[in-house]
Amino acid sequence: MRTDHDVAVVGAGPIGCAAAIAFAQRGASVLLLEANPRASERFAGEWIHPSGVEILEKLGLTGLEAFAENGPRRGFVVHPNDGSDPIVLPYPDGATGVSFDHSKLVSEMRCRAVSIREIDYVAPAKLVRLEPTPAYLHRETGAVIEIRAKRIVAADGRRSGTRRMLGLPDSSVGISFMAGLTLENLDLPLEGFGHVMSGLAGPIMSYRIAKNQVRMCLDAPATASQLRRDPDALYDAVAPALPAPMAKALAESLKARKPVWMETRFRTRTAYGRGNVVLVGDAVGCTHPLTAVGISLGLKDVEAVVESVDAADYGVRQRAFARVPEMLSNALYQVFSDTQYDTEAIRQSMFHIWRSSAAERRRTMGLLAATDVRGRAFATSFFRIGFRAARKTVGGDLRDGRWRRVRDTVGRFATWSTWPIAGLLPRYRKIPPHLRASGH
Ligand SMILES: Cc1cc2nc3c(=O)[nH]c(=O)nc-3n(C[C@H](O)[C@H](O)[C@H](O)COP(=O)(O)OP(=O)(O)OC[C@H]3O[C@@H](n4cnc5c(N)ncnc54)[C@H](O)[C@@H]3O)c2cc1C
Repeated sequence: MRTDHDVAVVGAGPIGCAAAIAFAQRGASVLLLEANPRASERFAGEWIHPSGVEILEKLGLTGLEAFAENGPRRGFVVHPNDGSDPIVLPYPDGATGVSFDHSKLVSEMRCRAVSIREIDYVAPAKLVRLEPTPAYLHRETGAVIEIRAKRIVAADGRRSGTRRMLGLPDSSVGISFMAGLTLENLDLPLEGFGHVMSGLAGPIMSYRIAKNQVRMCLDAPATASQLRRDPDALYDAVAPALPAPMAKALAESLKARKPVWMETRFRTRTAYGRGNVVLVGDAVGCTHPLTAVGISLGLKDVEAVVESVDAADYGVRQRAFARVPEMLSNALYQVFSDTQYDTEAIRQSMFHIWRSSAAERRRTMGLLAATDVRGRAFATSFFRIGFRAARKTVGGDLRDGRWRRVRDTVGRFATWSTWPIAGLLPRYRKIPPHLRASGH
């Protein structure tokens, strides 16, 4: 193994592997460190939007078995829980994404990285300090080994130790909990699409991860600890929102094994590192998985970091890019998880607009796929949704003479209107109060 490297990448998750491969493609020698190779066996990112797939293509990674087995993903189907027809939201221009088992993707990406001559992979090896000289602990020998590299790229995930070592606050906030269940031998209502439903506890997402397996992701508020403990209570909260074959497959899955819950967290993507130490992927920031944008944003970080000279240059490129995907994730999660009656009106308005306008379906999917990150597009969508919901709700209350409710409703829609306004202010990121860490 070389003793000096051009780049040291900390963490061999999906984004660390992509970063190592991207630097090696440019002829750089890379040290790739992984503290816990089994960390990828947890439930985590499995859906990648077309913007992420495009970057994987450039890295020569689309031939991976994880992709080939499943075929392309064409978009999402949203199932309103009012008995009306599902709404199909395809990606614009025939673009496609992928979905697969997380651990399978990471192990294939690691194998690809290890096979590249320019990359030296060391595991289990944990970065333990940055100053006075960066060093890692080689867990098998117990030796602390100095890193001699011109740049350090930290892809050490949402609990990034490198962030701490740089003196940057964690500033992440818990949102909810999500369980990932495996449903066997189930046909999805429309194959090739991810399916989104609103359950009693929170949003439900289902997508194929293998020929005979569908992943069902169940979201529940942090306060719903009973649902996390009791599979029967969980089934009762979720099953009414599901078509009968899905409910049956869920019952079988819950009988076979207890679900494992992962906490979902939010951290705004504003700090990208210092000097020659840069952060990529979840080490920069994370959003709720409902919009499945974590890996795609991390891959965008990789694309930007190999082009940049230092952390400042890289941060300028990425801060502007991540603003809209981050706000979209927070706004949509509110729409799908909040049970207030005015949010129900927003949800119905969104479904109506999607049903009636092909242009709006296209705009939404461009935003979701992060191929359109214009604040104006975000503002237009959310203004239309909010305006229609307010007109319908306030109109009904006025007709019925419910004056106090009119006042409350106007106040609540005024709060909602800050989403489209935020879209129009290029430097502003709206972060709902409950997701603000101290220091935001
Ligand atoms: C429940 C859930 C569902 C999700 N679903 C989606 C989805 O469908 N689509 C999507 O795009 N995103 C999704 N995400 C987000 C996605 O999982 C992350 O964005 C993605 O895993 C980030 O990759 P990463 O490589 O930055 O970090 P990680 O995947 O966390 O990898 C970090 C790696 O660094 C290693 N490491 C940590 N510290 C050190 C150290 N000091 N030294 C060396 N190595 C270290 C860790 O062991 C780990 O292997 C989901 C997240 C959750 C929680």
